[in-house]
Amino acid sequence: MSDERPQLQLDEDFTFACHKGLQCYTSCCRDVTIMLTPYDVLRMKKALGLTSSQFLEKYTHLVQVPGKAMPLVQFRMNEDNDKKCHFVSEGGCAIYEHRPWACRMFPLDEHGMGGFQVVVDGVRCHGLVKGDPWKVRDWLKDQGATQSKEMDGSYESLVSHEWMQEMAGLDNPKVQQMILLSLYDLDRFREFVLGSSFLDRFDLDEDTIFAAKTDDVALLDLGYAWVRFGLLGQKTLKLKEGVGQTEEDK
Ligand code: SF4
Ligand code: SF4
Repeated sequence: MSDERPQLQLDEDFTFACHKGLQCYTSCCRDVTIMLTPYDVLRMKKALGLTSSQFLEKYTHLVQVPGKAMPLVQFRMNEDNDKKCHFVSEGGCAIYEHRPWACRMFPLDEHGMGGFQVVVDGVRCHGLVKGDPWKVRDWLKDQGATQSKEMDGSYESLVSHEWMQEMAGLDNPKVQQMILLSLYDLDRFREFVLGSSFLDRFDLDEDTIFAAKTDDVALLDLGYAWVRFGLLGQKTLKLKEGVGQTEEDK
């Protein structure tokens, strides 16, 4: 069956306006499949005052695709409340400023190389029927999706790396644990960096160590560097003289 929804480029237009009073208001925040990026988790756990472990435990579940190295962290809907998102209220999204990238994109999603697509129709999403004209580029900027995308640039390039895409032999739990720890469970990763032999093994300057102690975004950068060093063999970290790569790094 052919996909008849129009493909859009960054400078093309679509019509949309979402607001209270529409019959569909907040209906799209129920029973929806949303995969969270590391930056999504970082931002939401911080806004909710939770540790990364608490957030992951309460609001996500893990999807493991057989043969794929990259674990997927899925936003958990509230099974006790008709599968609604935990953060939807009558007034809309209770974490609007901190909502995930996928929510910022809606009703668009990425499609193909640099393209976009409206992912619902006007029967479900009334905001598409009568709304304001938007250029895709302006919409993404207005919703903070462009900024989120930039923050998740490392995630994008990691996920699309050919090693991560290979099908065979990558369903190694150790690999997935390393990715989850260093990219998603940042508070635990901080404990690992500061409390294990990590700093004895890797040659990090004082600024990097201070930033990793105090700044989640800097810590996430260190997490990406460790994954790239350990899994992809890239020179993103430097071992101290006389130190060999350990099992933890592979
Ligand atoms: S379905 Fe569309 S118009 Fe309705 S609340 Fe969701 S995004 Fe807004
Ligand atoms: S995070 Fe907000 S926008 Fe996203 S599904 Fe939940 S309530 Fe809706």
